[in-house]
Amino acid sequence: MSVTGLCQICEQNEAEHSCSNCGTLACEEHWDEALGLCAQCAATVERGEGGDGTVRPDDLDDDEVMRF
Ligand SMILES: [Zn+2]
Ligand SMILES: [Zn+2]
Repeated sequence: MSVTGLCQICEQNEAEHSCSNCGTLACEEHWDEALGLCAQCAATVERGEGGDGTVRPDDLDDDEVMRF
Protein backbone atom coordinates (compact mmCIF):
# COMPACT_ATOMS: atom_id res chain seq x y z
CA MET A 1 0.00 0.00 0.00
CA SER A 2 1.42 3.35 -0.93
CA VAL A 3 0.00 6.66 0.15
CA THR A 4 0.39 9.86 -1.79
CA GLY A 5 0.30 13.18 -0.02
CA LEU A 6 1.54 14.91 3.05
CA CYS A 7 1.04 13.82 6.60
CA GLN A 8 -2.17 15.46 7.75
CA ILE A 9 -0.86 15.82 11.27
CA CYS A 10 2.37 17.75 10.71
CA GLU A 11 1.79 18.64 7.07
CA GLN A 12 5.51 18.55 6.53
CA ASN A 13 6.56 14.99 5.92
CA GLU A 14 5.35 12.71 3.19
CA ALA A 15 2.63 10.40 4.40
CA GLU A 16 3.56 6.75 4.59
CA HIS A 17 0.36 5.36 6.04
CA SER A 18 -3.36 5.87 6.05
CA CYS A 19 -5.14 5.41 9.34
CA SER A 20 -7.74 2.68 9.13
CA ASN A 21 -9.76 4.34 11.88
CA CYS A 22 -10.05 7.97 10.79
CA GLY A 23 -8.43 7.92 7.37
CA THR A 24 -5.80 10.47 8.27
CA LEU A 25 -2.61 10.28 6.26
CA ALA A 26 0.35 9.95 8.57
CA CYS A 27 4.10 10.09 8.15
CA GLU A 28 6.42 7.68 9.88
CA GLU A 29 6.68 10.02 12.86
CA HIS A 30 2.95 10.23 13.33
CA TRP A 31 2.20 6.59 12.78
CA ASP A 32 1.88 4.03 15.53
CA GLU A 33 3.09 0.83 13.98
CA ALA A 34 2.02 -1.29 16.95
CA LEU A 35 -1.59 -0.12 16.82
CA GLY A 36 -1.77 0.48 13.09
CA LEU A 37 -3.26 3.89 13.75
CA CYS A 38 -2.27 7.51 13.30
CA ALA A 39 -0.79 9.32 16.29
CA GLN A 40 -4.13 10.97 17.02
CA CYS A 41 -6.02 7.71 17.21
CA ALA A 42 -3.19 5.99 19.05
CA ALA A 43 -3.33 8.70 21.70
CA THR A 44 -7.07 8.20 22.00
CA VAL A 45 -6.70 4.48 22.40
CA GLU A 46 -4.01 4.87 25.00
CA ARG A 47 -6.31 7.15 26.99
CA GLY A 48 -8.94 4.47 26.91
CA GLU A 49 -11.37 6.57 24.91
CA GLY A 50 -13.11 5.65 21.71
CA GLY A 51 -13.16 1.93 21.44
CA ASP A 52 -15.14 1.70 18.22
CA GLY A 53 -14.83 -1.78 16.88
CA THR A 54 -13.45 -3.05 20.12
CA VAL A 55 -15.46 -5.75 21.83
CA ARG A 56 -15.70 -5.18 25.52
CA PRO A 57 -16.86 -7.79 28.03
CA ASP A 58 -19.93 -5.64 28.66
CA ASP A 59 -21.00 -6.11 25.07
CA LEU A 60 -21.25 -9.86 25.40
CA ASP A 61 -24.55 -11.53 26.09
CA ASP A 62 -24.92 -13.21 29.44
CA ASP A 63 -24.79 -16.59 27.72
CA GLU A 64 -21.43 -15.68 26.21
CA VAL A 65 -20.06 -14.66 29.58
CA MET A 66 -21.22 -17.89 31.18
CA ARG A 67 -19.01 -19.89 28.80
CA PHE A 68 -15.98 -18.17 30.17
ZN1 LIG B 1 3.71 13.83 10.40
ZN1 LIG C 1 -6.46 7.96 12.92
